[in-house]
Order: sequence, then structure tokens, then C-alpha cells
Amino acid sequence: ERRIVIVGAGMAGVQTAVALREQGFTGPVTLIGAEPHQPYDRPPLSKAVLLGKAEDSAFDIDFEALDIELQLGRDVTGVRSAAHELDTPTGPVPYDVLVIATGAEPVELPGSEGVRGVHLLRTLDDAARLRPVLGEQHTVVVVGAGWIGAEFATAARAAGCEVTVVEAADRPLAGVLPAEVAAPMARWYGESGAELLTGAPVARIEPGRVVLADGRAIEAGAVVVGIGARPATAWLAGSGIALGPDGSVTADEALRTSLPDVYAVGDCASFPSARYGTRLLVHHWDNAVQGPRTAAANIIGAGSGGAPQPLTYDPVPYFWSEQFDRFVQYAGHHGGADTLLWRGEPDGPAWSVLWLRDGALVAVLAVGRPRDLAQGRKLIEAGARLDPVRAADPSVPLKST
Ligand code: FAD
Repeated sequence: ERRIVIVGAGMAGVQTAVALREQGFTGPVTLIGAEPHQPYDRPPLSKAVLLGKAEDSAFDIDFEALDIELQLGRDVTGVRSAAHELDTPTGPVPYDVLVIATGAEPVELPGSEGVRGVHLLRTLDDAARLRPVLGEQHTVVVVGAGWIGAEFATAARAAGCEVTVVEAADRPLAGVLPAEVAAPMARWYGESGAELLTGAPVARIEPGRVVLADGRAIEAGAVVVGIGARPATAWLAGSGIALGPDGSVTADEALRTSLPDVYAVGDCASFPSARYGTRLLVHHWDNAVQGPRTAAANIIGAGSGGAPQPLTYDPVPYFWSEQFDRFVQYAGHHGGADTLLWRGEPDGPAWSVLWLRDGALVAVLAVGRPRDLAQGRKLIEAGARLDPVRAADPSVPLKST
């Protein structure tokens, strides 16, 4: 039987192991993870776990019962593909099939690496270090008004911290949403009692304060940096496994890498989307759940003797965020050239935005309108066309023409 080794014990790695078993694979499965903790879910780290409402977010999975061998606290440092072996500080690990699921690492603010009082928010350990910061109600400066920055600011305000968010771009989520959609979201910061400074790149971090490029200094008992994440793929250097300019493992439509017997899933892997006509690198939870099911099926199929047609992974990406007492959801993928349609009032408590391409729905952003998201997601999957006038009426359910 082929020995399947999965590197990275986050959602994508765990899901791959579980999917292999669910789909009937009975050979050896080993899951290797660098973190010492029992595998856990990340979204609660910026929500319940941060606020101390949950102690941890370990997956409720009985690995032993599933006969999945867990090797935790073990860092994989390299792949020697000709030998079908992984390198680790405690010796080599042989594999027949390798699944790369090493996720992403937060980008650090240059010059702030390892500085006391400067935090990232990616791991359970990060969250544990940040909990007392909230508990002691420090004055906090958050660098970056992205998804993590907004969620951290929300939690810090809920804990009674004084919060300033500094963002280099002219608006929150500048890389993902157009200005007209980001505008109402920017107002949520102030409503919550946080201060948002846009067009405010950081020059340097000094003990107890953050200095902006324009010379302003902001007092900071703690600094939280949330300026993005990069695929954790440095360990693949020299392996022959192709990486893209963004550092992602460039998987194909079946989630295979450039080397035979090697697959990649989750935050570390990009894949070509025929649906959207572009390569996608998705850093969201749903992708780390869905991709592994396809990868597992293809691993099993490739070992079954014949030449089965591999399954294609071409999802409608989905994610959610909980920020400033709002439930924000997004499905699909849009570009600057797509037509934007408002559904509801941007200043109201609930609204959605739709993006149409040649009359067909390609993406939806829903704030407090989960039904729009659910209906929109199905319409996107079906490639449905919408009547723009009817779709803009928030009192009418979303339907195809
Ligand atoms: P990871 O979860 O990053 O897991 C990869 C694992 O591999 C890590 O444990 C890492 O230590 C390990 N590893 C890395 N390199 C090696 C190596 N060389 N050897 C061994 N092990 C290695 N998404 C949403 O859709 N909604 C949300 O609300 C949301 N909230 C989030 C909040 C936070 C604080 C964070 C950090 C992320 C959030 N996400 C959210 C994103 C979501 O959690 C990720 O998309 C998901 O965790 C990706 O899973 P993954 O398994 O690909 O990667």
C-alpha cells in the first residue's frame, strides 16, 4: 500500500487525512505538523479564543480511531523527491505520495521582527500572547485594516482597549474591495470607538509607540501587525516543486504539483480556475475544507491501477468575517471590470453588493444578509444571469432571469 504523508496539520492537512479515510483509503496516512498543539481551527483565534470565550479550538477528531498517525512538533525542512523522502531535524521520512498543506505565514512589518510588544495573529500561541494584552486593556495600535486587523480591532474594543488602526492604503481592504464598497466599512471602525487612520504607512516602531511616515507618533502599549500572509513554502526550495511569484505551490486543476505523487492544498497552494479564467490563491477556511476532498479523491484514483479521469477543483470561493457586530460574507471572485450593483443602503445595518460579468453573477458580498449569500452562491455556481433592476431590490429574493 502507498504511504501517504501530509505536511502541515492545519485545516487543509487534517481534512486531507480525514477525506482519505472517508473515501476508503486504508493504507498508512501520516500527518506531520510543526506546531506542538493538537490540530486546531484558526478562525476562532481572532474571535472567541482571543476574548477568552473559548479556551482553544482543537478539532473534534479522533485521529487514533481513524488510524491517522499524528507527528506534532515536527518541522519538515526539505523534500528530496528523487528519493521520495522528507528531511526533518529528527531524521528522514519516506513517502509514496506527498501532500503539501503548510498554509501561510503572516507578513512581518520590516524592522519589527521579534520586537517586544509587537504581535502577529496566526497561531494559538499568538492568540495566547494577545489575550493578556486585551485583559490588561492596553492601548493598542493595529497595523493593517484587512480582515485580521478588523477582527482584532473588534475584539480589542469589546475588551475595552483603546484602539488605533493604521492603514497605508487610502481605505480598508484596499486589495480586495473597491473604494465605494470599502467606504461604509471604514465607518464601522469609528462607530465601534476605534480610530482608523488611512494613508498612514508606518515608518518604524519604537518602544511604546508607532511612528508614521508623516512623523506622527501614536502611543502603543501593544502593536498587532496584520498586513497579509504568504504561503509557507520556503522549505520547498530546491525540491523541484514549482512555485509561483507569490510563493504558492502552483497546483494544477486536479491539485497536483509539478512533481508526480505530490499534491498541494489550502493556503499554500494556488490553482487554475477555469470558472474565473485566472489562477487563484485563496487564503480562506472553506478552500482548506473543499480542496482536500478533491485531492484525496485524485490520490486514491491515481493509485487505483487504471487511468481514471481526475476530479477538477474549480470552486466558487467563499469566506466570512465577523467584525464590528456584523456578519460579512463573500462568495465568488470579481475583477475591476465587473459591474457593481448595490442591494440595499450602504449606511443601513444590512446590505449586499453584487458583481455581474456579461450579465451573469460572479460575486456577492453580503453584510448581515446571509440569505443573499446563500442564494447568490448558488446562482454563481450555476452561472446564472440576473436582471439588474430586480437584483438591486433588496426586498426581492435573488433569482435568475
Ligand atoms: P494553516 O491553517 O496555516 O495550517 C498549516 C500548518 O502547517 C500550520 O500549523 C503550520 O505550523 C504547519 N507548517 C508550516 N510549515 C511546516 C513545515 N515545514 N513542516 C511542518 N509543518 C508546517 N477564514 C475564513 O474564511 N473566515 C474567517 O473568519 C477566518 N478567520 C481567520 C482568523 C485568523 C486569526 C486566521 C489566522 C485565519 C483566519 N481565516 C479565516 C483563514 C483560515 O483560517 C485559513 O484559510 C486556514 O487556516 C488555512 O488552512 P491551511 O491548513 O491551509 O493552513
